[in-house]
Amino acid sequence: MTEIQYRLEQVRRVDGALPGPKSRELAERRAAAVASGVASSVPAYAADVDGGIVLDVDGNQLVDLGSGIAVTTVGASAPAVVAKVKEAVEHFTHTCFMVTPYEGYVAVAEKLAEIAPGDFPKKAALFNSGSEAVENAVKISRLHTGRQAVVVFDHAYHGRTNMTLAMTAKVLPYKQGFGPFAGEVYRVPVSYPFRDPEGMTGAEAARRALLQVEKQVGAENVAAVVIEPIQGEGGFIVPAEGFLPALSEWCTDNGAVFVVDEVQAGIARTGEWFAVDHEDVVPDLITVAKGVAGGMPLSGVVGRAEIMDAVHAGGLGGTYGGNPVACAAALGALQTIEEWDLMARARRIEEIVREELAPVAEETGTVGELRGRGAMMAVEFVRRGGTEPDADAARAVAAECLAQGVLVLTCGTFGNIVRLLPPLVIGEDLLRDGLRVLAQAVRGAAQ
Ligand SMILES: *Cc1c(COP(=O)(O)O)cnc(C)c1O
Repeated sequence: MTEIQYRLEQVRRVDGALPGPKSRELAERRAAAVASGVASSVPAYAADVDGGIVLDVDGNQLVDLGSGIAVTTVGASAPAVVAKVKEAVEHFTHTCFMVTPYEGYVAVAEKLAEIAPGDFPKKAALFNSGSEAVENAVKISRLHTGRQAVVVFDHAYHGRTNMTLAMTAKVLPYKQGFGPFAGEVYRVPVSYPFRDPEGMTGAEAARRALLQVEKQVGAENVAAVVIEPIQGEGGFIVPAEGFLPALSEWCTDNGAVFVVDEVQAGIARTGEWFAVDHEDVVPDLITVAKGVAGGMPLSGVVGRAEIMDAVHAGGLGGTYGGNPVACAAALGALQTIEEWDLMARARRIEEIVREELAPVAEETGTVGELRGRGAMMAVEFVRRGGTEPDADAARAVAAECLAQGVLVLTCGTFGNIVRLLPPLVIGEDLLRDGLRVLAQAVRGAAQ
């Protein structure tokens, strides 16, 4: 594997209590100036980020097992991203692609069409955020089909705009008090092997969901079925084998667009370009964002050219969509993934996570399931011996990790999941150090 050079020393270090004095000072300024609806998981303020280390303003070095929510897949200051951003920004920061187009946008669209699965002509359109990409995938699907209904799943997360909030499942903190939400969104059960009836296959779970669609929505009314191939915020839920292929087939048979939201799982995170690649599923449209541009805001919809082209000229766009600096960053990030063979690293990260955490799961009995793919792994906490979700355990583990200088995020409809999303450039020693802290925290919480 490529030997990666780091700027920051790749070691964990916490001097005294977190947050330190400078972070506390910033927190005071923040309390007076920043709306309290915007919350942060970590009380320490970032000064520099490189490889698997977040250096805070007080000199603490945290092991990054979150990647800013699956964004800094190539690191937060990957050399190719930095170089391409610098070069781009010295020439122009913006023209608006809808006014004066530029090559970077075209090159990113070409690359997305190249890496997306499917042996047919593909095209892409670029936006700023994951929510915007999902929202545009719905717009495109509606024009292509002339239908309105959008089918989504339990535990889904698709964003925070009004349309995508309608598609997102969890009320707190995302939806509470923000309605009314967009209409024509229908929610059906997903495949959640840990919580489904024992032995339920992917095909059976798909049948359960699709029967509901047929009876309550009507197949002929469905514009799009939208699903995360591994649900992110909802709990890193990996559907049973056969679930995604069955949904895909149903969409083909019924003239609906199969939209796979790869915003969190896509772009090398699971050890393939896309999470659907593990089952050779070929979506009609794929949404990408988070990991695609090395930390710069960029998102896109990529898929079948004849579907993408259903929209009249001027029907898609946005002032900043496909910003030239963000496109340059994306080209740097995608190049880094290939040159450094980061998909192999993602697969290696899964092996290491399983090696370090499987024994503690066995030993404590409070881990219902250790699951995931590649560098998208999760620990689901339950009351010992059963399946009752234990959000307190997840919270306690995350807090203890942070106190020891390891940054982990929680997720899940029931808040009982600790998720691991390390940057793929994290070194093996640092990763193992972080995981051992986590294992110790799991033991502590199980007492
Ligand atoms: C994060 C996320 C979104 C929303 O992306 P934003 O950039 O926050 O708007 C949509 N879908 C999935 C699967 C996500 O994880």
